[in-house]
Amino acid sequence: MGFEKFGHKSYTALTKVAGFVDRLVQGELFATRCSGCGRIYFPPRADCAGCLGSAMQWEKIPEKGKLVSFTRVNYAPAGFEADVPYTLALVDFGEVKVFGRLGSTVAEDEIKVGMELKPLVVTLPDGQLTYEFVLGNHKA
Ligand SMILES: [Zn+2]
Repeated sequence: MGFEKFGHKSYTALTKVAGFVDRLVQGELFATRCSGCGRIYFPPRADCAGCLGSAMQWEKIPEKGKLVSFTRVNYAPAGFEADVPYTLALVDFGEVKVFGRLGSTVAEDEIKVGMELKPLVVTLPDGQLTYEFVLGNHKA
């Protein structure tokens, strides 16, 4: 599968990390880890910015992360007008931090830095795939 299936709006169909979308279809969020130096990348990269190697392995994003920072988005760029308001979050999964949206199941008044979150792959109404963060005890 190509990359055009990913995201609220997809801007590219060709990528060296299209396996990312195949894994989303399976309901799992993956990063890539460099086999040469061990650096981990999200979004996934096919080439290492550290050692310039291209031997990458897929690595699943852990189920437990902690909210590092967040911001409420009230004004949207072109193409996202129907989505606002929503919350963007940076979540620390230990070796890798992942940027994305908080799910609408997380009430705005319960958002706290340090809270436990996990990634959840979601299918949008138009069939596109993306991921968001939900509470650690969220049942899919
Ligand atoms: Zn490397």
